Amino acid sequence: MKDGIGRTIDYLRISVTDKCNLRCRYCMPSCGVALIPHEELLTLEEIYRVVSIMADLGVKKIRFTGGEPLVRKNLIKLMKDIHELSVMEEIAMTTNGVLFGEMAEELKKAGLTSVNISLDTLDSGRFWKITGTDAHAKVLDAIKKAQSLNIRTKINCVPCRELNEEDIENMAALAQWENVDVRYIELMPIGCGKDFHGIPSDEILHRLEAVYGKGTPSHEKRGNGPANYYDFEGFEGKIGFISPMSHQFCGECNRIRLTAEGRLKLCLHYDRGIELKPLLRSGASDEEIRNEIRKAISNKPKAHDFTHAAQLESSDKRKMVQIGG
Ligand code: SAM
Ligand code: SF4
Repeated sequence: MKDGIGRTIDYLRISVTDKCNLRCRYCMPSCGVALIPHEELLTLEEIYRVVSIMADLGVKKIRFTGGEPLVRKNLIKLMKDIHELSVMEEIAMTTNGVLFGEMAEELKKAGLTSVNISLDTLDSGRFWKITGTDAHAKVLDAIKKAQSLNIRTKINCVPCRELNEEDIENMAALAQWENVDVRYIELMPIGCGKDFHGIPSDEILHRLEAVYGKGTPSHEKRGNGPANYYDFEGFEGKIGFISPMSHQFCGECNRIRLTAEGRLKLCLHYDRGIELKPLLRSGASDEEIRNEIRKAISNKPKAHDFTHAAQLESSDKRKMVQIGG
């Protein structure tokens, strides 16, 4: 399926919940956020229906996210049902890793092909300061477990001046010894992210090169995302940079998002999109829903613009945990 400016849209990110078992300071206030009432969340059956309609429109890759996707009850059953559609080339998940270790085998059986585990520090004290919990060891175990089950693994790290600047060089060592990619994501001014200062990708690359030697840009395709990858000598995995603040990558954007309450979002930044829940709950046929989705996708914004003050006025005002990162 193509959008209005000819980009192929084949990747759907599904937020299955706005709940989370961590309180990362740049993402979620320590008191939490007002949760979506249960009856307003899409049911697993409704999510399955949207995915099967999207599959007819050419979506081949999905990613479960949230909030924390693994706190949604019966997610494994939903994953298995989607896997059994036999049309998805990739079924991925972004998780904080806390529950992943104990669920990994079942997830793999249900069709999970790859996992992004978010981890911002190798120091358990700093982990506590960033997330408000002492689950650091569980996240490290989750990485090991994913490796032992041969689930493709990437680590997502969001460097912030105030929180984990000291960890930048050490985090890369995970890719030195294990076959995992470590990706540094520039902090976006969304929700609580506005209260912290992210670190530009170019600065991180220079800092890594000072420790590990020159990085070589890698042209090997790694997944669907906007990351730029580098090889470092002697490293098992690659180092990636996702740079929404310093580099524009919207020209190749292939993704749309389904929020936990059933909004089809066309761009992470903008509020623009359509509400699918009223259609799903009012007896609309698959064909009617498919046509609405087609129409919406033809209006996908050309690009995000986090730097332009006027654009911020039309941006989504919710927090990342509510949008689905
Ligand atoms: N709970 C899961 C997790 O942490 O992986 C999935 C949802 S979380 C919102 C997805 C990703 O978004 C995480 O890697 C997180 O670090 C990142 N994130 C959250 N707020 C962000 C922000 N303001 N800018 C950039 N990345 C952010
Ligand atoms: Fe939860 Fe993920 Fe946000 Fe951290 S980044 S608070 S784990 S949703």
